[in-house]
Amino acid sequence: MLTVENDDFGLEEVTLFADLILPVPVRQLFTYRVPRVFNAAIKNGARVVVPFGKNRVVTGVVAHIHTTPPSRYQAKYIGELLDDEPLVTPYQIALFNWIADYYLCSVGEVLNVALPSGLKITSQSKIQYNPDFEYFDLLTEEEAGLLEEIKKYQSLTYEEVGKRVGDQNINHVIKSLIGKRAVILYEEVREKYKPKIQKKVKLTGRYETRENLMELIGQLDKTPKQQEVVMRYMSQVPIQNDPYANRTGLEKSFFTQNEEISDSALSTLIKKGVFEEFEVTVSRFAEVKPDFTAGINIKLTTAQQRAFDEIINLFQEKDTVLLHGVTGSGKTEVYIHLAQQVLESGSQVLFLLPEIALTTQIVVRLKKVFGDKLGIYHSKFSDNERVEVWKGVVSGQFQLVVGVRSAIFLPFDALGLIIVDEEHESSYKQYDPAPRYHARDVSIVAAQHQQAKVLLGSATPALESYYQALNGRYGLVKLTERFGKASMPEFVLIDTKQERKTKKMKYEFSSVLVEELRETLARNEQSIIFQNRRGYSSYLQCEECGWIGECENCAVSLTYHQKDAELRCHYCGHKEEVPKFCPGCGSTKVRTVGFGTEKLEDQLKIFFPTARVARMDLDTTRAKNAYKEMIEDIEQGNVDILVGTQMISKGLDFENVSMVGVFDADRMIHFPDLRSTERAFQLITQVSGRAGRRADRKGRVLIQTGNTNQKILQKIIANDYEGMYAEEIVEREQFKYPPFTRLIKLTVRHLEQSVARQGAEKLTHLLMEKMGEDRVLGPQPPLVERIRNRFLFDILIKLEREKVNFKAAKTFILEKVTDILTDKTLKGADVTIDVDCL
Ligand code: ADP
Ligand code: ZN
Ligand code: ZN
Repeated sequence: MLTVENDDFGLEEVTLFADLILPVPVRQLFTYRVPRVFNAAIKNGARVVVPFGKNRVVTGVVAHIHTTPPSRYQAKYIGELLDDEPLVTPYQIALFNWIADYYLCSVGEVLNVALPSGLKITSQSKIQYNPDFEYFDLLTEEEAGLLEEIKKYQSLTYEEVGKRVGDQNINHVIKSLIGKRAVILYEEVREKYKPKIQKKVKLTGRYETRENLMELIGQLDKTPKQQEVVMRYMSQVPIQNDPYANRTGLEKSFFTQNEEISDSALSTLIKKGVFEEFEVTVSRFAEVKPDFTAGINIKLTTAQQRAFDEIINLFQEKDTVLLHGVTGSGKTEVYIHLAQQVLESGSQVLFLLPEIALTTQIVVRLKKVFGDKLGIYHSKFSDNERVEVWKGVVSGQFQLVVGVRSAIFLPFDALGLIIVDEEHESSYKQYDPAPRYHARDVSIVAAQHQQAKVLLGSATPALESYYQALNGRYGLVKLTERFGKASMPEFVLIDTKQERKTKKMKYEFSSVLVEELRETLARNEQSIIFQNRRGYSSYLQCEECGWIGECENCAVSLTYHQKDAELRCHYCGHKEEVPKFCPGCGSTKVRTVGFGTEKLEDQLKIFFPTARVARMDLDTTRAKNAYKEMIEDIEQGNVDILVGTQMISKGLDFENVSMVGVFDADRMIHFPDLRSTERAFQLITQVSGRAGRRADRKGRVLIQTGNTNQKILQKIIANDYEGMYAEEIVEREQFKYPPFTRLIKLTVRHLEQSVARQGAEKLTHLLMEKMGEDRVLGPQPPLVERIRNRFLFDILIKLEREKVNFKAAKTFILEKVTDILTDKTLKGADVTIDVDCL
């Protein structure tokens, strides 16, 4: 029986236990005991801090509260309760569980990516002077000196102690101090999130009346510096017209940063009680001022209105609708109108975008319409900013959030609509680490949990999505014309073989393309050059002996980056200096092979020395605001030619771009991957869509290829998505690929190739026994068979949608993977599971 006693509040004091989600890769919940003092306050979804393992402290989330002690172990106590109100909603917990189940990972791993690290607690060892310590004569001189130093401060981290004594190597001294119990070592738990605090000053209440204020100014005649401070304050805060203006005060920095004002005058006034200091928490988004005057009343065109109505109608019976609208058709306007309608009904809206390059422009458009209600969540945000969005969703401030894939983890509790723009984008899928989730697919489940609707939008839908639309699972709505009488761009295929034969090629550029660029420049219009490879050249090769620069950690050639005179591995980040001589034979004839954006940028500068050329790729956009600045530059006409990777292909809307040049189409088409045809179609169509988005600028797209007769190129030129779909889908069915099957990829890794192979073979064998040989392909080394010094082997499992019980199959796979991971002969082997791999 439970012992029940009454406390002062009349609450029954029962012993409670809580099952916690902890951020560890173990597929289970952990039961902890709830200290009585938390009995009344603890709730599902609240964060707690608990000891874990020998000396770790981790933040967990309460999933379930009950009175059953664990049978197999003695429950440890919860250390701290961080939230009075749940930080994680029941919807989130349900969703995290679904993700863990579906993608075969632990809920803790989901929690780990879902919670911004600012909401996770870190533990840090601190050192404190022991006030009870008496045995000073036991200390060496060195120890005594350090103890004296530590005594001055309340508590210090190891690092701080090092800094204070100006010697980083004091760990052994600290250790002996701990041993002699002169100092105490403890774990300080601190919350990482720090709200942004602004220090302000205001006049104290009595000076809010005109009389007192005037009197004060009179009194200050003798201290002109102080008088100056008061006058300055009054010039900024209209206290005479509106006494309430004083309540919001003025940033202290206004005074401290002004050289004409002395700091001490302000301090004196504070001491005298003329001014008082106070602090406010400010939103990090305060700087993005909404513009309520513009844009709200954009009227939908007839075609857009029809699409809008159709979507609303379809939502009556379908949970998911696919909007297939050509580039420049104004899908964003349709999204905005839908979002407005949903927000008016009191529900929340989540607007997902594949990449932040895109958010820059769309955020400006959304801000105009939604102002303060709009939260923004993306990967270049600092952690504090992410925490603020999280808290803003909980508090109800942000009813609409625009963000990248991880925004799906935000604590919504009343979602009405999720918009997944550019739904075909592969960056919606997370590869590493687990959970290897696909944000589009998770959206559909999240929406189900909250009776919300999902709108998928794309000019080039994923085959999977289009398939679901044609078979009636999703609704389908089309927008076939561009906004404002702009026509679709005109395509030109350039035969580079022919140009090479007639020696017309200039470096990588065909003469046709150079000529077209020249004309575009002459018209003062902008061009885009698309090459989906960054760096200068693909690799370096010796002409004499054939040596190729390869990564020492990965089985891949190093990319040459001329700007930094470096060879870089795009898989592990390894860097090397460019060798002056061939490391193989000493020859100086080392040449660059292949070309990336850097090389094209260089060549453009040779053709057009006065043109303003910009490059947008991973290398030029690492800084937080790099995208934004570059996009603004282009919008303002400060760039004539933009060279870029796939980053420039999607969503961007520049009205002055009239020409797009596409390089290396053949490499995209022939990449050895089941989705290469689909991807090439999507990528080239998307990048083409950047051209001619205004009625008076007919867009032109020039594609360089070694074979102009390729079927897929004809489909792209004709903007024939349906045609591409019809052909591809037949092949997918024939070869049993998605959407007819689901794919699961297992990757076995080990430092030694033989162990990796052995593990993969064993696993394949175990799987085949029950699943059959047709369903298990491999093992085989992937295209890059060694990454970060570890050898890789892939196993691909194909499961027919109709025939196979997916859940049971996954349980079986997990069992076999566990067998491999615990196999003593395969020590150190690691297996990753990628469900619905792309
Ligand atoms: P998509 O996302 O389909 O490629 P966008 O939504 O970016 O197309 O629209 C293309 C351009 O047309 C944008 O500059 C947008 O502002 C403009 N536009 C689209 N619809 C309208 C409308 N109804 N009224 C005014 N401008 C519009
Ligand atoms: Zn050589
Ligand atoms: Zn590498």
